[in-house]
Amino acid sequence: MLPRYRNTLIALFLLFALAFVGLVLLFHDRADKFAVAEAKQQALNALLMHRATHAYVTQIQRPEIYRLKEEGKLYQDYFSPSVLSFTFIARNIKDLLNREREKHGMETIYFKLASENPRNPVNKADASEVELLRRMNANELTEYEKVVDLEGKKWLYLAVPIERSNKGCLKCHGDPGDAPAELLAMYGDKAGFHESPDAIRALISIRVPLRSIVKAGDQMTRVLILVTFVVLTSIYLVITVLIRRIDTQEQEILKQNKALEKLSMTDMLTGIFNRFGLQRRGKEIMKSADRFHHPLALLMLDLDHFKLVNDRHGHTVGDVVLKQFGEIIQANLRGSDIFGRWGGEEFLVLSPYLHLKDAMKMAEKLRLAIEAAEFNSGIRLSTSIGVSEYHSGETLSGLIERADLALYAAKESGRNRVASEPLPEARTGPGNTSPGNDA
Ligand code: GH3
Ligand code: MG
Ligand code: MG
Repeated sequence: MLPRYRNTLIALFLLFALAFVGLVLLFHDRADKFAVAEAKQQALNALLMHRATHAYVTQIQRPEIYRLKEEGKLYQDYFSPSVLSFTFIARNIKDLLNREREKHGMETIYFKLASENPRNPVNKADASEVELLRRMNANELTEYEKVVDLEGKKWLYLAVPIERSNKGCLKCHGDPGDAPAELLAMYGDKAGFHESPDAIRALISIRVPLRSIVKAGDQMTRVLILVTFVVLTSIYLVITVLIRRIDTQEQEILKQNKALEKLSMTDMLTGIFNRFGLQRRGKEIMKSADRFHHPLALLMLDLDHFKLVNDRHGHTVGDVVLKQFGEIIQANLRGSDIFGRWGGEEFLVLSPYLHLKDAMKMAEKLRLAIEAAEFNSGIRLSTSIGVSEYHSGETLSGLIERADLALYAAKESGRNRVASEPLPEARTGPGNTSPGNDA
């Protein structure tokens, strides 16, 4: 896979993993918030129930009892907590409500009317309720809500004050002298009295268990997480398949481009570089010579009297000879040398790391190899070679031109020989030629 597609897939994978983790955290957070909101709703329901009961007892039930007393249908000191004590009634309703909840498979709600000075000790406020009452009386707090860990369970705890004591309340909670005699007979005059007017004498403590609500939320969360996982994985897989397809197509195009590029640089007859290939590789190697300050030599080879081969043996044999010529030269070059056909029966060698003097030696070796070779149909041939050395900054055609001049000199002086451009110390004199013999 191409690096840029691989990187895209890695980046996408990380992005999807991050999105997944983010969504999982979000779902859990929402589920927790949902559980608390749902528990609050249940607590409020219980509270409203409680308030409605309070309203019923104080506005309907009690006035009815008092009226009956006034009309003499009930005796004056009649008192029964089951019809007159709101706290008593509220506690019983709470127990009945929990029984109903249990019947319906629901967890029971903890409900308490907590007071510092209760008539019934079960309503005695604990330390934290005492503190909440103090803050509510000091107007620091109107309502208190918190998720708490108690008895190994998680609960939503809600505390709300009851109304501040008014005249009606103080009838049974103020001076014991004002209270019905039967109330005093039942509870005595010790507890539940001497409350100040306008004080908050109790608060409603409600605890709703979170476990079953959280369980339902968790189930939903698990489903959402699974769906998210499946959706994200599917999208990722689809993208992966698409990217793989694009990658395969692009790699195929790159392969074809490479093959075409190679073809455009290759000479069809000999399989070595053609003129275009030589120009491209030549420019590259010249750049490298400039950059790394290494020498570079160019050899231009031209078959001597090649026209005669065509004339005597035909063009097809001429072609085979050209191919064989390429093979012999190639076999005598180093791996770093660049060899190609410049055109017709002219060939170029670009030899890095060689100064002119060593390049001349190499050219001589090539000349001897051709001289010694027997070509197709027993043909013997020779080659003339012109050598030049690259001067940093010059163009390829400048370098070739000087080799061409040297080649011309080699031809002029009898062929089958090596000639160089004038050596630096002999620039003004004629070109140097090797001791090759005339054919
Ligand atoms: P010189 O020693 O002066 O180089 O003589 P020469 O005959 O080699 O040079 P000339 O330029 O007169 O002739 C070159 C010949 O090379 C002419 C041409 O037919 C032949 N030639 C060029 N390209 C090809 C080719 O692809 N195949 C064949 N068979 N012959 C070719
Ligand atoms: Mg020629
Ligand atoms: Mg020739």
